[in-house]
Amino acid sequence: MSDIEEKLKQQFDIVETISRYTTLKLKDSHYWGCCPFHKDLKPSMSVNPKQGTFKCFACGVNGDVITFFANITQQNRKDIIDILSN
Ligand SMILES: [Zn+2]
Repeated sequence: MSDIEEKLKQQFDIVETISRYTTLKLKDSHYWGCCPFHKDLKPSMSVNPKQGTFKCFACGVNGDVITFFANITQQNRKDIIDILSN
């Protein structure tokens, strides 16, 4: 994990970021929402604010806030890091 990636993960809160694309609800220590990456009818995506990670239990997409930005904008990880850090 590079310094830039660490910085971006601090700068972009994962719950706040994913909330722009789907409604998240807190349940126990995780947030749950409908996955924006497949046609989700019930909340299949879990967000772990402590670890800064997300995972969809239906389509399997998972990662950190940088992966989320990369997937939602259809960029690769390297390009989205360049975009976000500028
Ligand atoms: Zn999904």
